Amino acid sequence: MTDERWAGAGERVWARHGRRTGSALIVGAGAVGGFLAEELARIGFSPLRLVDPDTLAVENLVRHPLGASALGRPKAPALAEKIRRDFPPCDATGLRLDFLDAPADEQRSLAARADVVVAATDSVACQRHVNRVALSVGTPAVYPGVWVDPRIRDAEVGEILWVLPDGRTPCYECAAEFRRSASDTQAARGARVDIQLVVLATAQIVAALVHPEDARSGILDPERSAVYLHGLTPTSPAVRPAFPTAGLSSRNVRVPFPARPCAACRGRRLAPSPRVPAAAAPLAPVSPEDPSPAAGDAGPERPKVTVFAVIALVVMVFFVASVLHTAGG
Ligand SMILES: [Zn+2]
Repeated sequence: MTDERWAGAGERVWARHGRRTGSALIVGAGAVGGFLAEELARIGFSPLRLVDPDTLAVENLVRHPLGASALGRPKAPALAEKIRRDFPPCDATGLRLDFLDAPADEQRSLAARADVVVAATDSVACQRHVNRVALSVGTPAVYPGVWVDPRIRDAEVGEILWVLPDGRTPCYECAAEFRRSASDTQAARGARVDIQLVVLATAQIVAALVHPEDARSGILDPERSAVYLHGLTPTSPAVRPAFPTAGLSSRNVRVPFPARPCAACRGRRLAPSPRVPAAAAPLAPVSPEDPSPAAGDAGPERPKVTVFAVIALVVMVFFVASVLHTAGG
């Protein structure tokens, strides 16, 4: 905000568009992490910390916010500089660093200072490590990815897993078996438009995690901590059980805790349920009516709970009224 054209403009920027405040650590400034950083900056996030060890190569230009003028430059610092230049309200900084190589206290400090950590790397080892670090400092984390499967089109289906600390949702490790068909976005071939659908949804989830009280955070269902997205590409036969209709759609999917205690978060499934298979591959064939995790919707449970709650409330009101009546009489 040193530029004089920006003097006093801070609040005008979001005057017509409610700002979503928050800070984020984005590990991986490739296609997903790069566009996500820009999106979070524009909706109001600041500060943003970007971490990535790589430099921008020609093959990145197809789907990266940085252009040819940044070729050969380290992605994270170059992108942070672009964000500060194009969108001065955001305090963005980039570290040319492999998160795995950072000293442990720096890893913890970066994660602890952020409201949300996003792991958008092409390394499962790094994603798993971010999971452990985020859990250890109690910061929510988000893992955007794209299904990589020979049976489906490139980047046809996006997956976004979000994890709350303290065992409130299954963690990245818990979900490892469940999401074994899903891999990172950067390794998946895919057009920029497919990637950006995942990015836009991830930004909404990140903002919702920071402000759970905001009405817009209703997109998060704590019982269903993965979001699957289907783009506007034709629907592959292997995906039709999960996405029966063609075109753009999303669904919130229940991720089960593992049967054995998770090594990372110590979470485990409390009681084996015949309705929740131990491992349901995202591409496992399921009918749209099937309430298994891959089908993503066990809808009838909630109305039942609501009906019981209403009945309990009515009984309680009558009880209290009768006690008051007795006391008063
Ligand atoms: Zn876990």
